[in-house]
Amino acid sequence: MTEKKHLVEPARKTPVRYEVDVLVVGGGSAGLIAAVAASRQGASVLLVEQNGFLGGTLTMTTVGSICGLYTVDDEEVTPIIGGIGAELMARLAQAGGARGPERWLKTASMLYDPVLLRLFADDLAAEAGVEVVLHSTAVGSVIEGERLNGVIFESGSGRWAALAKVVVDTTGDGDIMALSGAAFEYDRDEIQASTAMFQLGGVDTERAMRIGREDLHGYLEQAVAAGVELPRTAGGMFSLHPGFAHMNITRVRGKDAVLDPLDAAGISAIEVEGRRQIQLYHDAFRRFVPGFESSFVAAIGSHIGLRESRRLSGVYRLELEDVLGAARFDDVIACGAWPVEDHAGGRSTRWVFLEPGTYYHLPYRMLLPQTVDGLLVAGRCASASHDAHASMRVAGICFALGEAAGVAAAQAAAGGIAPRAVDVRRLQRQLIAQGAFLGDPGGVG
Ligand SMILES: Cc1cc2nc3c(=O)[nH]c(=O)nc-3n(C[C@H](O)[C@H](O)[C@H](O)COP(=O)(O)OP(=O)(O)OC[C@H]3O[C@@H](n4cnc5c(N)ncnc54)[C@H](O)[C@@H]3O)c2cc1C
Repeated sequence: MTEKKHLVEPARKTPVRYEVDVLVVGGGSAGLIAAVAASRQGASVLLVEQNGFLGGTLTMTTVGSICGLYTVDDEEVTPIIGGIGAELMARLAQAGGARGPERWLKTASMLYDPVLLRLFADDLAAEAGVEVVLHSTAVGSVIEGERLNGVIFESGSGRWAALAKVVVDTTGDGDIMALSGAAFEYDRDEIQASTAMFQLGGVDTERAMRIGREDLHGYLEQAVAAGVELPRTAGGMFSLHPGFAHMNITRVRGKDAVLDPLDAAGISAIEVEGRRQIQLYHDAFRRFVPGFESSFVAAIGSHIGLRESRRLSGVYRLELEDVLGAARFDDVIACGAWPVEDHAGGRSTRWVFLEPGTYYHLPYRMLLPQTVDGLLVAGRCASASHDAHASMRVAGICFALGEAAGVAAAQAAAGGIAPRAVDVRRLQRQLIAQGAFLGDPGGVG
């Protein structure tokens, strides 16, 4: 959007509300785990989130199942995400809020309950001693030369600042790296399509969950042939609780400036279009897909799902060849095996699978900006090409990246050093000690 008028705002004094070792901004899968990891290392940790709850995309958008937790071949489904993410999933499963692994396509994921996850995220943060501040949005950075010293937030009572030895940007959109002048990539024409997630109740899940992905595709193509203009016919449905089905099926794609998800007008239009599509799909499911005849829309995510926006241009950029070639890095801090899952143009999704049973390393350098000091970037805004991002963006991998960022931030703060000066061997030893999977023994030198 091109603004015709500008205002010059008066200078103001901003109260400093917190001074901590580690400030984590954004409480999604990466940020929650980063904050808990840093706090368990003994750092004083502030976690600031713009929603009224933690969990990010997993609880505000809701996505049906947690991906990236396993590497899969014909015989076995092998966990490759350990540490705090695995601990959280085990606790959820024990309470009936998660189930898995469930195989689908050539991979597997874990079904989860987004409402229970909200509750468990509060518990996890509180038990670790993390100070959590909700309903507060990061709007500015406190920069001295190339060193980030803190972040400015807006909440109901106005602006306030938090100063920190290390800041971790886990906002998904990379707001802090952008506010701090770190280099990033963002190509509106390239980013993946958005999806408004919804849950249907009143579903005959006995019948509906017997429908495979290919059959679902066929039913929805029948709807298209009958004149229902569905933008996507290859999607996913998941059911953790009888009678309810989580639908990952809408597709909002904008190639013009109006549909820029980082622009207020753009995201507004995207949200409204997502809800329009929910009505369209609900109608198509009732008429064309067995088991959905008496269904009703039971829930809609409070924020449309943005798969991709800004990606850090880090010290290392994860590439497609790294993902598909099972790359090995000396500074490995997590492993990934999720396929390239690209929701681009057309009515289907582009899947490119890794060799069965393999996984790739994710290096520490993809969390480090090239210039700004005092900042780590984790989760879906870490440094990766568009294609590599289409694999590393899933929640299981974001858990692991968050855990590495949290431990590294605590180590940097304790040592009075920049995150880029952290001793990577020491970081790896700590991650392994707390259950993280960094590859087969011998993979870490
Ligand atoms: C439609 C869709 C479907 C998906 N399906 C799956 C799936 O089935 N399985 C899977 O594993 N993954 C799936 N993913 C991917 C995965 O859910 C996300 O990539 C992952 O959860 C991102 O985690 P994150 O912590 O990096 O970011 P987020 O989860 O986006 O968390 C970022 C947090 O930062 C907060 N925040 C943002 N800006 C600010 C600010 N300025 N100030 C304060 N707080 C801020 C946000 O409110 C949010 O809580 C899907 C994603 C989408 C969009």
